[in-house]
Amino acid sequence: MKFLLRKVTKTPLDFELESQEANFKGYLQYHSGNLILLKAELSGFVDIECSQCAQDIKLPLEENIELFISDGLFNGDERIELDVVESFDGYADIDEILHSELELIKSDYYSCENCQNS
Ligand SMILES: [Zn+2]
Repeated sequence: MKFLLRKVTKTPLDFELESQEANFKGYLQYHSGNLILLKAELSGFVDIECSQCAQDIKLPLEENIELFISDGLFNGDERIELDVVESFDGYADIDEILHSELELIKSDYYSCENCQNS
């Protein structure tokens, strides 16, 4: 799912995306300069492995994602407290953002109930 960034206005543009059991729902909204705000809720489940015994774990997702997408190079001189994702093709690639958020979650350390109790 891709959105042309220069068509995003102050009126929130809703999106909803599913990836396996994960649900990514939110909106894009023009902020200022070449920045577009992305606000979304990540819910559902993601399959991860126990870091100790590699058993599959179904991790419930409950994340609020808030970041800026920069249409082109981010000049960095604005007082921005959110992460900025730069887009060089003029599009917001929601699949890609969801994918990297899931990868970030998966890169954390998890142990299954068995390992936690031993
Ligand atoms: Zn384990």
